[in-house]
Amino acid sequence: MKKNDYLEKANFRTLIEANGKDRIQDKLNIVSVFLETEEHITLDEMLHLLKEKGYDFEPRFVKQCMNRMVDLGFAQKKQFEGQPIRYEHRHLGRHHDHLICTKCGKIVEFFNENMERLQVGIAARSGFHVLQHRMDIYGLCSQCLSQRTPLMSLTMAKAGERVVIREIAGGRKKQARLTDMGLRPGDLIKIINNAGRGRIILAQGPTRLAIGRGIAEKIMVSISAQDGDI
Ligand SMILES: [Zn+2]
Ligand SMILES: [Zn+2]
Ligand SMILES: [Zn+2]
Repeated sequence: MKKNDYLEKANFRTLIEANGKDRIQDKLNIVSVFLETEEHITLDEMLHLLKEKGYDFEPRFVKQCMNRMVDLGFAQKKQFEGQPIRYEHRHLGRHHDHLICTKCGKIVEFFNENMERLQVGIAARSGFHVLQHRMDIYGLCSQCLSQRTPLMSLTMAKAGERVVIREIAGGRKKQARLTDMGLRPGDLIKIINNAGRGRIILAQGPTRLAIGRGIAEKIMVSISAQDGDI
């Protein structure tokens, strides 16, 4: 357990003990499991996680305990559009905002000092003193975005382009041949050479592969939005 988690847990214990010692160890176990995860977690996910760790608590009890953590300032409840209620850590003095993918539900945290300062300034110009705020930015994550781009055959990809394999058409035999080469839907590959005739040379991680045009025709890909080299 991280040192900060240990302090949080001790702090929580002090606060709840003031209200009686009923099932205190159970409550502390829930707090521990919650502090160990860095996710924005739903009640169902929390129950699942507890089961994985060998605890079998009634959902009502877990929910009560989570809400107690919220009341006492150890957790905060967040609800993003179209998603169930989630709980996340509430670290004192550490604020963050969120990017939410509307397609897969992925949540990314960010903190930007300039943005924070700007918000305080905007509020002040309207005579507001900021007590709290949340900024949720909705959009598509890079993975969902790349899935949205139209499919094309691998033969159309240009040298230097990074593409994601989306589907392999052309019957089981062709698919098996590609699987043998290590190519599967979802794989990110980079085109090294595609001269418009002859074999296409591509890189998959540190490996170069040469694919005949006949087979390449059957591999449907989309341009990857992912940065970085492969
Ligand atoms: Zn903020
Ligand atoms: Zn997404
Ligand atoms: Zn968060």
